[in-house]
Amino acid sequence: MTELARARVPEVGAPPAGIPRSATASLRELLERQFQDYTEQLIGLTVPGRLPDSDVHHPDTVRTLMRTARQGIADTTEALRRMSEGGYGRCGRCDREIPLVRLRAAPSARWCEPCQQHHASVRHGHEPGPAGC
Ligand SMILES: [Zn+2]
Repeated sequence: MTELARARVPEVGAPPAGIPRSATASLRELLERQFQDYTEQLIGLTVPGRLPDSDVHHPDTVRTLMRTARQGIADTTEALRRMSEGGYGRCGRCDREIPLVRLRAAPSARWCEPCQQHHASVRHGHEPGPAGC
């Protein structure tokens, strides 16, 4: 079991496939900043009286914001983990490389664009398209 688990992780600290080391460094910075932003947002929502805008106190709005912040923290944590363990920059569904331009726009992206769109359309109840990815 240990052998299996190890076999799935290529090399600890190995640069992600297809992504230059310099790009990885800036993506990591982006992720760390996002993580911090989400954390601060969540603290702001959790600690009463820290929100500057009183409109945001509406329970539904706060719930939505908290869910977004929690999801953001989870996504960025996961992306940073993949970055150090290997597998970052690869689509979790089709295993293709995620283009750098997409990672720059969404550093915590787990899926390539076609897979993401497919997922979104399935979730919205449309007919699932041909398995192009
Ligand atoms: Zn994909």
